[in-house]
Amino acid sequence: MKFAKDALAGILDFLLPSACSACGAGGSEFLCETCKKALGNLSGRHLKSTRTLEVLAPFLYDGPAKNLVVDFKYHGIRGLAKEMAVFMARRIEGLGIAALVPVPLHHARIRERGYSQTRLLADSISRITGIPVVNCLKRNRYTTPQVELSGRERLSNLQNAFAFTGPFSPEPVAIIDDITTTGTTLVEAAEVLPVRRKIGLVFAIAGEDQDLV
Ligand SMILES: [Zn+2]
Repeated sequence: MKFAKDALAGILDFLLPSACSACGAGGSEFLCETCKKALGNLSGRHLKSTRTLEVLAPFLYDGPAKNLVVDFKYHGIRGLAKEMAVFMARRIEGLGIAALVPVPLHHARIRERGYSQTRLLADSISRITGIPVVNCLKRNRYTTPQVELSGRERLSNLQNAFAFTGPFSPEPVAIIDDITTTGTTLVEAAEVLPVRRKIGLVFAIAGEDQDLV
C-alpha cells in the first residue's frame, strides 16, 4: 500500500507540480522563471576543503537553494534533480571530470524515500555534460542520518560504511552528493574509491552548526 501511495505521489508530482520549490509561487514548474534567474545570480564558486578532498558547490545552504534541497530530499519532488543539476554541471565546467560517482544510499533508505537523490543528481548532470555515471560504490550498512549527529559521531558513524564494488572509473572523478556540512560522507566515500584524482560535488554547502531542515 505504501508503495502504491508513493508511486501515486510520484506520478502526481510529475503531472502536477503545483508550486515553485524556491518561492512557493503557484504554477506549472518546480522552479519558476524568476527563481531560476535569481538562483543563477546567486550561484557562485563555493569550496569546502577537507583533509583529503576538495568539495565544490554552486550554493551555500541558505534561502532558495535550501528550499530546493528540502523539497527534493524530504518532500519527494524528484523533478528538481534536473534543475539542481544545471548549477552543479556549471560548477565543474572546464575541470575535465571523466566520471560521476554518486554517493550510495543504503537500499533501505532508497525504499523509504522511493528514490536515491544522489543517483538522480548524477544522472541529470550526466545528461547535461555527457560525463558518464559510474556506480561503483555501495553502502555496507544502514547508518544514522549524519544530520542527527555531532562532528565526532559523524566520523565513527561512517567508518567502513562504503565499499568499492567496481567497475574502475576513469579519472578525475566527481563524487556526487546533495549537500555537505563537514564533508565527512564524501571523504569516507572517496577513501574507498581507488582513483587518485577526485573531488566532491554537491548542490550546497551548509555551515557546520547549521540546522539542516
Ligand atoms: Zn519561484
